[in-house]
Amino acid sequence: MKKKLFAAAAAAALAAAMMAGCGNKAASGTGSAAEKKEETKAEAKTESPASSEAKVSIVCTNFAEYDFARAIAGDTAEITMLLKPGAESHTYEPSPEDIIRIQDSDMFVYVGGDSDEWVADILDSMDQSKMHVFKLMDQVDTVEEEHVEGMETEEEETKSEQDEKNLGKSQPEEEPELDEHVWASPVNAMQIVEKMSAQIADIDPDHKADYEKNAADYIGKIRKLDEQFQDITANAARKEIIVADRFPFLYFVKEYGLKYYAAFPGCASNTQPSAQTVAFLIDKVKEDQIPMVFHMELSNEQMANSIAEATGAKSELLNAVHNVSAEDFAKGVTYVDLMQHNAEVLKEALN
Ligand SMILES: [Zn+2]
Repeated sequence: MKKKLFAAAAAAALAAAMMAGCGNKAASGTGSAAEKKEETKAEAKTESPASSEAKVSIVCTNFAEYDFARAIAGDTAEITMLLKPGAESHTYEPSPEDIIRIQDSDMFVYVGGDSDEWVADILDSMDQSKMHVFKLMDQVDTVEEEHVEGMETEEEETKSEQDEKNLGKSQPEEEPELDEHVWASPVNAMQIVEKMSAQIADIDPDHKADYEKNAADYIGKIRKLDEQFQDITANAARKEIIVADRFPFLYFVKEYGLKYYAAFPGCASNTQPSAQTVAFLIDKVKEDQIPMVFHMELSNEQMANSIAEATGAKSELLNAVHNVSAEDFAKGVTYVDLMQHNAEVLKEALN
């Protein structure tokens, strides 16, 4: 039902965009990196997308993508994040304005997983002949979502989601679900930045050297993080973390050889834990003498706090970098900053 309404809204938005000749581009955006484009400029861009006057426009769905694009092309491109700073990413749905932004962009960056499933329908309805689409999950090796002991499964919901899908578009979907949080591993992040930089340079060859230099600088910073994580995990007293929240850290723990327990899989829509789940995690914390329990960003933190209270462990933030608060967004906080925080708390949690 929701999907049908949404498809109708998308179609209406596209029709409006076409009639208005893309002049709507400056519609109230929150996560815009640069100043809003003036109407005349937007029209000029429509006529000659490769013109040297028009900035390359890059539209990203989440913060990690936005941060990478900003590091590579922040000076020469107009970069927009569709997710509003501070908003929860798993419940995001694009507004008609967002759809117009995607349609008008030179490059559209998205994850390609469960939480931005809407993208496929949107792209199908668009003229993609001049669009460059960059899907994060195509840039690195993906792994299947895991369900470890004690984790709540979403069997019922998955089934009803599939029913909904079968009723709507006929997409035979029997493939295993891949974990979408590819960016949460710094090693993946380096690959993504490298490939994103190459694609931006293809769109805007005039600034190729800048993009390459910026990408190399940023990859250098991420490599330092990677080295820290390797060092921390190699010298840790224990190699286990407990996340009393969703678990978007699968690529991260696999990279650094950590064992984990968590309440929910990566992009679970349900985050109300059962008493059983909470009890399981409390037992684990006690049994394995875990000094710190994690929650992810923009979480209500309730579960981590109550487990901390029951066990004497600390409750701390482990950033999965889906999004940042409006305050951090305004401050210009980066993926590297957020991961640096992770390195500090991880060191404490593992020792
Ligand atoms: Zn997620």
